Amino acid sequence: MNIVRTEGVVLRYTNFKEADRMLTIFSPDRGKMQVLARGCRKPSSRLLAASQVFCYADYVFIKSKEIYIMTQSEVKNSFYNIRNDVERLAYGTYILNLTEEAVSYEEANFRLFYMLLHTLSHLSYGEVNPADVTHIFELKLIDMLGYRPVLDRCLVCGQTPESNPLFFNIVQGGIICPHCNKETKDGYTIHKDTLQTMRYILDVDIRRLGVLKFSQAVRNELDGILSHYLSYRLEKDIKAKRFIDYLKCNV
Ligand SMILES: [Zn+2]
Repeated sequence: MNIVRTEGVVLRYTNFKEADRMLTIFSPDRGKMQVLARGCRKPSSRLLAASQVFCYADYVFIKSKEIYIMTQSEVKNSFYNIRNDVERLAYGTYILNLTEEAVSYEEANFRLFYMLLHTLSHLSYGEVNPADVTHIFELKLIDMLGYRPVLDRCLVCGQTPESNPLFFNIVQGGIICPHCNKETKDGYTIHKDTLQTMRYILDVDIRRLGVLKFSQAVRNELDGILSHYLSYRLEKDIKAKRFIDYLKCNV
């Protein structure tokens, strides 16, 4: 019998049969895993607490073909506050969806795992605006995936532009000066404050980002640029982002 002990975070699940659940769990040493939690939806199940989305736990699985079957679990942090608030829940779901796209099956990714844990802690217990926590995660993830944007010179003419605002080009992955943007006209407007914030996020350890305060103008620019840049690079439209946009307009 192939017994696997690992820690992990639940990214999503699908219920089936009377009380079973198929989970997608992100483990730092094994990447994405498909895990069956038999009978976990029974109130008496000892697997129930560790079968909730966002839950961070120690697990014991038995491997059967391509599926892992959960046999034991011990919750380390349920991040309950995230599930308890509609705004945090919307941003948290988006962060989990991005993580799911960024990790592979059977491939360790310690860096992303610990970044996810820090991000969920800030989202659950921190004072930072959930939108800002999400933007920090997005930009750090972009960097981790190897798409660090060019922020110090125009990608077309190579000059260091003095004008404000500039433009951010999603396809080229960086800034374009107003002169060069006249040719394509498809850049997102980006002001110097936003550029400065992006540089700061990229250079600082995520553990030290718990005290950041973004202005609404910076937040708005990051909101458009980062999610579109990630969607373009991941070649995927993350549906949870639409729910965040819906909440912004309707709540
Ligand atoms: Zn230029």
